[in-house]
Amino acid sequence: MRQRTAGAPSNEGAMERLQGIAVSPGVAIGEALILDNEGFRIPRRFVGRDAVGEELARLNRAIEAATAEVDRNRGRVAKELGDEVAAIFSAHLQMLNDRRLRQELEEMIRTRHYSPEYSVSRALGKYAKVFQSLDGEYMAERANDIFDIQKRLLRHLLGTARQELAHVTSPVLVLAHNLTPSETANLNPQFVMGLVTEVGGPGSHTAIVAEGLGIPAVVGVGNFLTDVSGGETVIIDGDQGLIFLHPDEETLARYRHEVEEQRSLAVKLETLRDLPAETTDGVRITMLGNIEFPAEVQQCDERGADGIGLYRTEFLYLGRDDDPPEEAHFAAYSEVAREMHGKPVVMRTLDLGADKMRTLPDPEDERNPFLGLRSIRLALKNRDMFRVQLRAILRASAHGQIKLMFPLISTMLELRQAKMVLADAMEDLEEAGIPFDRNMPVGMMVEVPSAVIMMDRFAEEADFFSIGTNDLIQYCLAVDRSNKDVASLYTAADPAVIRLIDMAVQTAKRFDRPISMCGQMCGNPLYTMLLLGIGLRTLSVTPSAIPEVKRVCRSVSIEQCERVADQVRGLETARDVKTFLKEELSKVFPEFPV
Ligand code: PEP
Ligand code: MG
Repeated sequence: MRQRTAGAPSNEGAMERLQGIAVSPGVAIGEALILDNEGFRIPRRFVGRDAVGEELARLNRAIEAATAEVDRNRGRVAKELGDEVAAIFSAHLQMLNDRRLRQELEEMIRTRHYSPEYSVSRALGKYAKVFQSLDGEYMAERANDIFDIQKRLLRHLLGTARQELAHVTSPVLVLAHNLTPSETANLNPQFVMGLVTEVGGPGSHTAIVAEGLGIPAVVGVGNFLTDVSGGETVIIDGDQGLIFLHPDEETLARYRHEVEEQRSLAVKLETLRDLPAETTDGVRITMLGNIEFPAEVQQCDERGADGIGLYRTEFLYLGRDDDPPEEAHFAAYSEVAREMHGKPVVMRTLDLGADKMRTLPDPEDERNPFLGLRSIRLALKNRDMFRVQLRAILRASAHGQIKLMFPLISTMLELRQAKMVLADAMEDLEEAGIPFDRNMPVGMMVEVPSAVIMMDRFAEEADFFSIGTNDLIQYCLAVDRSNKDVASLYTAADPAVIRLIDMAVQTAKRFDRPISMCGQMCGNPLYTMLLLGIGLRTLSVTPSAIPEVKRVCRSVSIEQCERVADQVRGLETARDVKTFLKEELSKVFPEFPV
């Protein structure tokens, strides 16, 4: 959804306010770095005075190469489809070699010292925008022709598509059509201050990883990349899910003030680091951190986590092209185990598939990837790969307090099969005399409604449970967690989701099995009182969320939380639940916006 400043034209200069889905809180103001569909990075770069001659030559070479390419296409198409169809390429050739365009590009490099990439992106982007703002299909096609030429030139200038995002070296806000979770994970939070994507839903792993990085992020904004050029100032409001293109001075001033307030709240929350997450009536809540990489252990430590409640080990696969060997697994896992100095680490086995793939999905892929061969199902079909990981986890268990957890268990047979593969791996290690913890607890995630329904039986075979609300919500409500078009249905506040959680917690208690939660729901302070009231005493959250959730725990009593849970049990819609929880939280923290 977009709003332009009243009466303003759609080209550069008029402020645009776009609504997306808020997935990671905070505000960021900075220069845009754009990754379009093809992933071209177009930061504003300057070239040195001495390099101008070489950069002009580079531009000319790119224009020549693009011209030759288009000419070849024209010849082939003319032969196969006739001159009429090939005429479109003649138009491209004309534009590519337009004298005025060439002069403008050369001028930008010579006098403003812009890089050829930035000049091409800016100049052609500007022309395309003018065509886009004019009505009619013909004009829209001309805009597309210009984008086509822009991409072709950039491809020649950049050499390779999808440049290494990890190499960004100055503060930027990344605006992209889409990013894979591993591309998101590779963003360097030292320089990437915020993230916006055109697609993606609230529970997508890209969103979760952005939250893990602690940078404001908004997803599912819809098409907007053509309205902004690299280097322009953008505001990301990760609390409201808003982004502002070409912000006016008043909006900038308002958000600069928010950034300041954010900083002072962060300083206040830091003082909680060494205090326990203990309710006012003395009940100790265990606060654990969710991590994707060993390096995040430090963030857990800085925020006073009691351990790691979810280590998403699949990210080891996502960051590389080949399957990691056992030693790579072992190095990562034993590092985490050792650095936690005896605190518990829940290692979740491979949860690959669906949106956790190495590349962006191909339309030819599975039609319902979230209902398909993902997670434990994929692991059980690829036993060799699974065994390699299990061996490494077992070996790491000799170096710390490790618990192993299987993801997406939906049937008893699955749990039994997974445990059998584990038993085999244990036997192999034993025979080889390799040390491991024989008593390592083996638990499972509760993220499919069938697991809740059958929990009394699972309780006999699993040592512990952890509720994964990110998936539980999507499977309970039949709503794809990464689809922006159904994002309004995807909410932890839905009474059906809350009933499932309630059932799971009560069943685990009845069978005296430890149960925790590691879905994003428990990192949102809005739900803390409800979850404590339902009976949860262990919460595993994104490290950056630990201080705020701890603050709520330290400000409420269990009795108060149980009253909140009782009242929520009587509500019928997600909207009522949210309104009620906001009111309750604002009673505890009057500054909380209702
Ligand atoms: C979940 O589903 O809640 C969960 C923690 O796992 P993931 O987000 O990695 O699917
Ligand atoms: Mg899950």
